[in-house]
Amino acid sequence: MIPAAFDYLAPTSVEDALAALAEHGDDAKIIAGGQSLLPVLRMRLNAPEVLIDLGKIDSLRGIRDDGDAIVIGAMTPHSVVGSDPLVAEHAALISKAVEHLADAQIRHRGTFGGALAHADPAGDLGGPAVALGAQFVIQGAGGTRTVGADDFFVDLFETAIGDDEILTEVRIPKHTGWGARHEKFVRIVHQWPIVAVAATVRVDGGTIAEARIGMANMGSTPVRARAVEEALAGQPATEDAVRAAAERADEGTNPPSDLNGDADYRRHLSRVLTRRAVLAAAGA
Ligand SMILES: Cc1cc2nc3c(=O)[nH]c(=O)nc-3n(C[C@H](O)[C@H](O)[C@H](O)COP(=O)(O)OP(=O)(O)OC[C@H]3O[C@@H](n4cnc5c(N)ncnc54)[C@H](O)[C@@H]3O)c2cc1C
Repeated sequence: MIPAAFDYLAPTSVEDALAALAEHGDDAKIIAGGQSLLPVLRMRLNAPEVLIDLGKIDSLRGIRDDGDAIVIGAMTPHSVVGSDPLVAEHAALISKAVEHLADAQIRHRGTFGGALAHADPAGDLGGPAVALGAQFVIQGAGGTRTVGADDFFVDLFETAIGDDEILTEVRIPKHTGWGARHEKFVRIVHQWPIVAVAATVRVDGGTIAEARIGMANMGSTPVRARAVEEALAGQPATEDAVRAAAERADEGTNPPSDLNGDADYRRHLSRVLTRRAVLAAAGA
């Protein structure tokens, strides 16, 4: 279907975009890469009167080193994030997840911030974001605030970004030297995961010193596998130890049932994928 008619604005600064949001209120919608929004408009599940395109705001694009964090501009395309050496060195889990995200065309148009703002619990970036403790920088008329990953994802397709606010950048604390692995289970290649597990692990002398694990499609938001993280700390990086800890992957989760698999199947997948991801990240 063709979307309902809308007016199109392309501001060149965040301030102008915020002013347009304030002027048009509920009638307006932000568009980034359009890879999730345009299908919604074409199905007429939403019909905003005004689209505010962030594509001409240069300050929202780019990746920089900021001491203890890597900062990724919201409008940075997935393809740029996926091939960036700073991200690969300090937040390898992000690079690995982007490799698995959709196909080359969608990675070219779709943006890092757009995918996280969309907050699809099946999205590939939510797991790495919660695992790495991402910080979301959100700008509104009153200024800028920073929200941690645990508070950013509120519910299905719902984040802490207010209707009159814009996600400007995401700060990823550096995890330099940590092993990383993204395990994604799909029925059709280039599609959203039935379950995905993002694991990053710091190994010290054959012992797992720290592990951080985020999962997609195991609830209405991306979830941390905290029980596994706790069980792994101080354990040897061996198949037996990791297998035992991974059995706890679904603790505290609430996976959906749908045509791709029921909740029990997803629980099983979370345990298997966690074992594989942690073993690979630990180099075991
Ligand atoms: C066929 C197909 C397959 C896909 N497969 C996968 C997959 O395997 N894994 C995966 O993770 N994703 C997948 N995607 C989604 C892809 O990652 C999109 O790029 C992403 O979900 C949305 O990013 P976008 O920049 O296109 O945002 P848009 O579609 O432009 O926007 C998405 C939503 O976020 C809001 N928004 C965007 N940017 C901001 C901002 N800076 N501040 C506030 N609100 C904002 C918009 O208003 C809109 O509600 C797929 C998409 C398609 C079409």
